[in-house]
Amino acid sequence: MDVALARDWMRAAADLIAADADRLTQLDSAIGDGDHGVNLNRGFTAVVAALEKSPPETVSEVLVKAGATLMSRVGGASGPLYGTALRSAGKALPATAEVAPADLGAALQAGLAAVRKLGGAAPGDKTLVDAFTPALEAFDKAVAQGGGLAEAAGAAARAAEAGAEATVPLQARKGRASYLGERSIGHQDPGATSTSLIFRALADVS
Ligand code: ADP
Ligand code: MG
Ligand code: MG
Repeated sequence: MDVALARDWMRAAADLIAADADRLTQLDSAIGDGDHGVNLNRGFTAVVAALEKSPPETVSEVLVKAGATLMSRVGGASGPLYGTALRSAGKALPATAEVAPADLGAALQAGLAAVRKLGGAAPGDKTLVDAFTPALEAFDKAVAQGGGLAEAAGAAARAAEAGAEATVPLQARKGRASYLGERSIGHQDPGATSTSLIFRALADVS
C-alpha cells in the first residue's frame, strides 16, 4: 500500500458510509440512539477534507490523521473507537512511503487491540469488534498463504460482512445497545456494519 492508495481507501470508506448512512442510522435506531450513520458520515467527510487540505506523505500519517479527525469530530462511542483504531494502526506502521500487506495487517491488529482496551469489548459482545476481529483473521491468513493486498482485503471484507451478520442473534454487552438487555437480540449491530463497509472500501481500492 502506498500513500495514494491509503487516501483512496479513506475516500472510498467515506463514499460507502455516505451511501449507507440511512441504513446505519436505522440499525442504530433499533438498538441505540439513531445517530450512527450521521456520526460516521460527518466524521469521514471531515477525514477526506483533512487529507485534501494537507496531504500526508506516508500511509502511517494518513491513518494517524484520519484517526485524529474522527476523534475530534465525532461524538458518541464510534468517534473515539474508530479514531483510536486508525491512529493506533497508523502509529504501528513504519514511516515509509509504501507498506507491505503484512505490515498493514500487524498495524490493524494494533488498532483492534487499542479499541478493545478503550471500549472493553470482547468478541461476542455485539460491537464493531465482532466484524473487526474476523476481518483481521482473514487478512492475516491470506497474507500468510502468500496473498497480496487485494486478496487479503477481499477476504477481510467478506469476513467482516459475515461477522456483522452474525451479530443479529447476539445480546449486546457493551455500548448503548446493552441497556436494552434481551431486546437487543434480533438486530444487526450498527458499528459492526460500518466496520464491514470500511473493509469493503479497502477491498474495492486494492
Ligand atoms: P453512540 O452509541 O454513542 O451513539 P454510535 O451510534 O456512533 O455511538 O456507535 C455505536 C456503535 O459503537 C455500536 O453499534 C457498537 O458497534 C460500537 N460500540 C459501542 N460501545 C462499544 C465498546 N465499548 N466497544 C466497542 N464498540 C462499541
Ligand atoms: Mg448511536
Ligand atoms: Mg449517540
